[in-house]
Amino acid sequence: MKQVVILGAGYAGLKVTHELQKKASGDFKITLVNKNSYHYEATDLHEVAAGTQPSEKITYPVADIVDPKVTTFIQDEVTAFDPAKKTVSLKDHDDLTYDYLVVALGFVSETFGIKGAVENALPMTTVEEAEAIHAHILKVMDDYKQTPTPEALNIVIAGAGFTGIELAGALADGRKEYAARAGVNPSDIKISMLDAGTRLLPMFSDKLAEYGVNLVKSLGVDIITDARVQEVAPGKTIYTFGKDEAATPHEISAKTIIWTTGVSGSPLVDAAGLKARRGRVIPTDHLTDADHDDLYIIGDVAAVMPPDGKRPYPTTAQIALGMGKYVADDLASVLKTGKHLENGFVYKSLGTVASVGNTRAFGVAMGHESKGYFASATKKMIANESLYRIGGMKEVLKKGRFDLYH
Ligand SMILES: Cc1cc2nc3c(=O)[nH]c(=O)nc-3n(C[C@H](O)[C@H](O)[C@H](O)COP(=O)(O)OP(=O)(O)OC[C@H]3O[C@@H](n4cnc5c(N)ncnc54)[C@H](O)[C@@H]3O)c2cc1C
Repeated sequence: MKQVVILGAGYAGLKVTHELQKKASGDFKITLVNKNSYHYEATDLHEVAAGTQPSEKITYPVADIVDPKVTTFIQDEVTAFDPAKKTVSLKDHDDLTYDYLVVALGFVSETFGIKGAVENALPMTTVEEAEAIHAHILKVMDDYKQTPTPEALNIVIAGAGFTGIELAGALADGRKEYAARAGVNPSDIKISMLDAGTRLLPMFSDKLAEYGVNLVKSLGVDIITDARVQEVAPGKTIYTFGKDEAATPHEISAKTIIWTTGVSGSPLVDAAGLKARRGRVIPTDHLTDADHDDLYIIGDVAAVMPPDGKRPYPTTAQIALGMGKYVADDLASVLKTGKHLENGFVYKSLGTVASVGNTRAFGVAMGHESKGYFASATKKMIANESLYRIGGMKEVLKKGRFDLYH
């Protein structure tokens, strides 16, 4: 009996599990390992951080997906994997051995070694971290009511990429709640974003990116571009304009500093000795590691190159789901015939839509640029589609977004 071990129950790992276990006929067993007992929709973490969605709305039990006849679910932390010995080490369980390994360990916050960022800024990569951001904002607002200090009403987002922009929109929606706690007007809550780039949102056309940036600005969010964060001190973000590190430093005082400058793949990928950059491996056409045909590497730990491109596809939930489906098919073929599928992985994007709060969005869906309410409804439908692609109708009915026209 062949043993397949899948690490991570995010979009990629759970999709492989869901699809592969349907193909089992007593010929292989799956072991799925994940830190938490639940899967979370990482694409909605900013809403939990802002407090505009409860965490229960973006999570569901891994057990809902697992077929216990084929798959054993182990809730534990993976501490290492060894491609040469074909073993996986866990924090609280014995080592696992495998015939085939699927590494789908996702992303971690990337601080690029910026001084004080780890200690003094809040990351937003897990449900716990998103909940901690919301709890922090509420505490700061409660403290303000007791002892008013202007920096308590300031929120700084370091990084105005896709995630930062979505977070700014959600925080703008959350202002009413924060202001009520602090006993001030919503407009007294200042949200500022800092980004080293001058042309934000490169995934969109000039016109659409400008629309998105102006939409966020229209909510009273201050976006400071060409601004490199040099240091994060307690309650203070220090930055300089332009590329000259000796330029005059500027600072913003804020009791809430949220870090969204970027993510890298799981550090376990580098630690395993795979040829990786920032935790990401360029996989083969069959999504295996070039040096280990029995090791698939998918989701945010993979940097998949487009056929004619120089830069890898952006890491998204959408491509992670596509890779999950492909690996289930390819691995089933390898397990049953000993051969990979004839065709390699091909990615077709449904589009990219950024939400700016609950009712506004902009982006490209099915080849067309869209804005406003229509884009917002499209974003929710794409999220429902992703729920459906793993959890089926059951999870869509429980967790789906049906407030399409609010
Ligand atoms: C705020 C935000 C908004 C986003 N919006 C979009 C969007 O609109 N559209 C889109 O397509 N993408 C979006 N993304 C990107 C998307 O969320 C990621 O690309 C996607 O989550 C990657 O899926 P994955 O399965 O590779 O990893 P993950 O979803 O990160 O899953 C990895 C899993 O592995 C588990 N894990 C990690 N380390 C260990 C360990 N050591 N031991 C055990 N378990 C472990 C984690 O707990 C998790 O369950 C967004 C991301 C963020 C943060």
